[in-house]
Amino acid sequence: MPAEAQAQAQPAGWRDGWLESALAVPSPNYGPRPNGALIDLLVVHSISLPPGQYGGPEIEQLFGNRLDWDAHPYFAGLRGLEVSSHFLIRRDGTLLQFVSCDDRAWHAGRSCWRGRENCNDDSIGIELEGLEGEPFEPVQYRTLADLCQALALRYAIAHVAGHEHIAPGRKLDPGPGFDWAQLRQATRWPADRFPLATVAGRNPVISGADPGKTVAPGPDSTAAMQ
Ligand SMILES: [Zn+2]
Repeated sequence: MPAEAQAQAQPAGWRDGWLESALAVPSPNYGPRPNGALIDLLVVHSISLPPGQYGGPEIEQLFGNRLDWDAHPYFAGLRGLEVSSHFLIRRDGTLLQFVSCDDRAWHAGRSCWRGRENCNDDSIGIELEGLEGEPFEPVQYRTLADLCQALALRYAIAHVAGHEHIAPGRKLDPGPGFDWAQLRQATRWPADRFPLATVAGRNPVISGADPGKTVAPGPDSTAAMQ
């Protein structure tokens, strides 16, 4: 293979779908992507365990099937859950990776975006440590923007959406505390790459979602994510 083609297939900073600048914390919760999957969607999530508490090891433990279900009342509702995400961005901007982007992580569950269902098949999941409705840290946006740029070097990223957009009515993360305009500006990506509702205003009413509906905050715990 010519050197140029090889560089195109695996740009600097990547190794088999793992970003070398991220802290690798391999999760067993993944599978192969369907043959021919076009990985063109980034899905933004939020998570904190217990909800609203930051900095502990519980998210890594959840994604690694090592969470002590009895350690907190909230965890009892997560018992047996097998989930993962490709990335997690901590409140201090630290970037962790759990699953190779070449593989299928279990973050989206039942979902549909850009006319395609089962978004786990052909998306990359990015969790921000945070709570639905609460703001995120400036350094998290910087890490996220850098991650978006790095991903776009290796994958044909054409869409970015929140879990709330791909699973409306069922999921609310990352929620109204996430500043989509800031991400658009930081990436300099065109507006048509983002959900229409996030381009129109800072606190959009998500089309298809019931604004009066409440869903318990926290991880993607209420449905199988596979
Ligand atoms: Zn989510």
